Amino acid sequence: MINHYDYIMVGSGITGLYCALLAQEQGSVLLITKGSVDDCNTRYAQGGIAAAIGKNDSPELHFKDTLAAGDGLCDEEAVRILVDEAPDRITDLVNLGVPFDTLDGEIDLTLEAAHSVPRILHAGGDATGEYIEVTLSERVRSAKIQVLEDHLATDIILQNGGVSGLKTLDCCSGSTEEFGCRFLLLATGGAGQLFKFSTNPEVATGDGIALAFRAGAEIVDMEFFQFHPTALYLPGVTPFLISEAVRGKGGILRNKEGYRFMPDYTPQAELASRDIVTRSMLYEMEKTGTDNVFLDVTHLLPEVIATRFPQIYRFCLDHGLDITREWIPVAPAAHYMIGGIRVNSWGETNISGLFAAGEVACTGAHGANRLASNSLLEVLIFGKRIIQKTRRIGESVVATTPGSAEICHSLKTRQFAQDMPAAGLSALKQLLWDKAGIIRSGEGLTEAANTLAAWQQSLPPPQDRQSYELTNLVLTGRLLAEAALLREESRGAHFRSDFPRSSPEWLKHIVLTTG
Ligand SMILES: Cc1cc2nc3c(=O)[nH]c(=O)nc-3n(C[C@H](O)[C@H](O)[C@H](O)COP(=O)(O)OP(=O)(O)OC[C@H]3O[C@@H](n4cnc5c(N)ncnc54)[C@H](O)[C@@H]3O)c2cc1C
Repeated sequence: MINHYDYIMVGSGITGLYCALLAQEQGSVLLITKGSVDDCNTRYAQGGIAAAIGKNDSPELHFKDTLAAGDGLCDEEAVRILVDEAPDRITDLVNLGVPFDTLDGEIDLTLEAAHSVPRILHAGGDATGEYIEVTLSERVRSAKIQVLEDHLATDIILQNGGVSGLKTLDCCSGSTEEFGCRFLLLATGGAGQLFKFSTNPEVATGDGIALAFRAGAEIVDMEFFQFHPTALYLPGVTPFLISEAVRGKGGILRNKEGYRFMPDYTPQAELASRDIVTRSMLYEMEKTGTDNVFLDVTHLLPEVIATRFPQIYRFCLDHGLDITREWIPVAPAAHYMIGGIRVNSWGETNISGLFAAGEVACTGAHGANRLASNSLLEVLIFGKRIIQKTRRIGESVVATTPGSAEICHSLKTRQFAQDMPAAGLSALKQLLWDKAGIIRSGEGLTEAANTLAAWQQSLPPPQDRQSYELTNLVLTGRLLAEAALLREESRGAHFRSDFPRSSPEWLKHIVLTTG
């Protein structure tokens, strides 16, 4: 006899926690997470949440900025929902106790790249994610929600084509368990661990993508992976994000000679979208023969830096760098998975009972390139809609599906060379960074796809958390490489040196299925 719940939430970032809190009013809830509750991407979010609540702002302006960043591939209906429902969801977060920073009694709003007005709410200066995570997890712990830490979701259980439960691995005892449910929500976050340099913590291993794909869910837009231009670049130190908001406050990018190079590449200079800043930095690094450039905030008042960016200031100081007096060495790092499990405007996948939200899902709201600080917002908007939808199951609620034009593709058999490197986490990260990273080519992507296909065949059946994660990364990486190979153009976060321009023929989505 297996335990049965109305809802199972997999993941304890903002998505799992927020949705669990909403769902408990409608039924029994089990929240499963593979580490401790606060092991997630959410805790590291710095900049904040975008919402058109300022005097000179409007949902219409937020809509236009989101569409411009999305480079022709945003699902307009999803964006409309995102921007229109944003102010109400911010009120929900305030009511749950998230203490956003204020100035003269009003919520303080900051500017980030590619936003036309200041519209980013933040908490604790640059500790927004931590404040959200702590607030929501405290609420969850005092609610009637069962929480299982150190439990890895390994397989989705299907019955008559719909979801009936979940298989898990107890990471401490090694035993496997099964749980039944009516609704399963994958809230497993992104896959930054695919790449050698990443701002993401170790839990970001693409598990949700792999679980859903194996169960028959559609996966879409996987070629779009956002690289953040400014991660701290210090030898031996894991890349640490230097938030977009630092450039929004006036941070200047300089090459090793001290020259401010961004105006040579684009009129928006440091405030251009992430893909443009990232590639400009790479070109500049190549030109000057260096592995990094510098972010200069020494012209800002030291007290402004220390109060507005306390985490960044403290982290750098702890590593011997006083950013009020010295330039910050920075280089790009993998940051955000734009594609994911394809969902409609109510968070539904193509499998009955299976929902997805947050970074693991693709609503189409980000198009080919996510506008900064729209991801935490997307969780609130579409997470809430999932809980509304499951309350109304049985009623017909009109749903839109992301993107009109699309091509469907299933994974094909690939040729294996004899001299493939052995499968392993560091080999995988190096492969994806070199061959499917910021600047890609057909040749490199083919090599990546062939190698990943070979590893899919050679890896033994997973037994523990580490081997499950590697298996999931290999599959997720393969989906990314195959999609990037198919898209013979450059658009948004996807750049091909052999197809450097956008093509109107590619105004469509790549949907990957098991076939
Ligand atoms: C450094 C950094 C800064 C950022 N700054 C911002 C920002 O300012 N604004 C913004 O909008 N976005 C920002 N982002 C992006 C944003 O933080 C994430 O997209 C968002 O927090 C994702 O939330 P989530 O709940 O979907 O996933 P996560 O917060 O990553 O949570 C995923 C959860 O799923 C669990 N999990 C994964 N696989 C399994 C499994 N198989 N079984 C059980 N549990 C599993 C994980 O352990 C984790 O608890 C930032 C990201 C990073 C890394």
